[in-house]
Amino acid sequence: ATVIFSGIQPTGIPHLGNYLGALQNWRRLQDEAQPGAKLLYSIVDLHAITLPQQAPMLRQWKREMLAALLAVGLDPARSSIFYQSSVPAHTELMWILSCTASMGYLSRMTQWKSKLHLSDDASALDEKAKASLKLGLFSYPVLQAADILVHRATHVPVGEDQRQHLEFARECATNFNHTFGAGSKLLVPPETILSPAKRIMSLQTPTSKMSKSDTDPRSRILLTDSAEEIHKKIMAAKTDSTNAVSYDRAARPGVANLLELWASFDARGRGPEMLAEELGGQKASLKDLKTSVADVLVEEIPAIGVRYREFLEKDGGRYLDEVEEEGARVARKSADETMEIVKRAVGLSR
Ligand code: ATP
Ligand code: MG
Repeated sequence: ATVIFSGIQPTGIPHLGNYLGALQNWRRLQDEAQPGAKLLYSIVDLHAITLPQQAPMLRQWKREMLAALLAVGLDPARSSIFYQSSVPAHTELMWILSCTASMGYLSRMTQWKSKLHLSDDASALDEKAKASLKLGLFSYPVLQAADILVHRATHVPVGEDQRQHLEFARECATNFNHTFGAGSKLLVPPETILSPAKRIMSLQTPTSKMSKSDTDPRSRILLTDSAEEIHKKIMAAKTDSTNAVSYDRAARPGVANLLELWASFDARGRGPEMLAEELGGQKASLKDLKTSVADVLVEEIPAIGVRYREFLEKDGGRYLDEVEEEGARVARKSADETMEIVKRAVGLSR
C-alpha cells in the first residue's frame, strides 16, 4: 500500500519555497490518492529545537503551521496532520537507528558540513566553536529517518535540499534490515518525490535557497503576505545591472529565480525561457518582469492568507487542537505497528 509521509519545521510561516518545493505536492498527492493510501504530514517540532527556540514562540509557530497547512488545502479527513512530539515512537525508533547508523556517513552531510563553517566567509570554525556544536544538530538526519521509517512510508515529497537526508534514510532502512532481518524488509526504503520547482532561491541572495530562518524578511514571500507585501518584495528583489530579460541560471541567478517563480504559477505551463522571450527578451525591462511575477503571485497567494486567519480563529482555536489530536491518534497507531516489528526483531520485546 502507498504511504506518503513528509514534515515541515515550525520555524515560522511557510514561504513560496516551501509551497512550490513541498506543500503543493503534499496537496496534489492527497487529491490524487487512491482509496486505502495513507497520508501523514508532520509538524516536526523536535527538529525545530536543534536550534535554540523560545517556548512561547515555538508553541505559537506550531499552531500557525497547522493553520497554514489547512489553508493550502490539506484536508484532515484525508491527511493526518500531527505534531512530531505527539508520537513518541519517532524518538524511540531514532535511538534504535542510531545504533546501526554510521558517524562517517552523518559527518558527510552537507547541512552539517555547512555548520562547521562561518556562513559569511566560509572559513572553518575554531576548535572551541566546533566543540560547542550540538549533538542534536549532528544526529538530526537519524531522527528524520525515523520519522519516515516508523510509518513505513513508501513516498516522501520534499524539496531538493532534503535529497541527501532521504538517501541517508534509505541507508538506515537497508542497514537495519541487514543487521536485524537477514535482509528481509522489516523497514521500507522510501522513494523521494521532488517537484519541478525543487529549489526556490532567496529574493535578496539568489545564490542561497529561500528559508524560514533567513534573518532578512525581504528574502522570502510568506504564504500569508498581502497583495501589497508581495508586490513590494518582488519589486525589491535583487537582480543585476543588465536591464533586459534572459534566462541564465549561472550568470543571472536573480532574474532566473524570478522567471522560475513565474513559470511555477503560469496557467499555460510555459517554461522560464519561453516566458523571457514572450515578455520581449532584450527589449523587456526588469521592471516588466517583476510586475508580471507579482501579478501571477497575487492571483493565488493572498487567498491562502485569508483561509489561514480563518483556521487560526475557528471555534476559538479549538478546531486546530481537534485536527491535531485526531491526526496524532492515527499516526500513533501507524507508528506502533512498526515498533512492534522493530522491537521483536531487535529482541526488545518478549
Ligand atoms: P528552516 O530555514 O527553518 O530550515 P525551511 O524554509 O528550510 O526552514 P523546512 O521546514 O526545513 O523549511 O522544510 C520544509 C520543506 O520545504 C522541505 O521539504 C524542504 O525541502 C522544502 N523547502 C524548503 N526551502 C525550500 C526552497 N527554497 N525551495 C524548495 N523547497 C524548499
Ligand atoms: Mg530547512
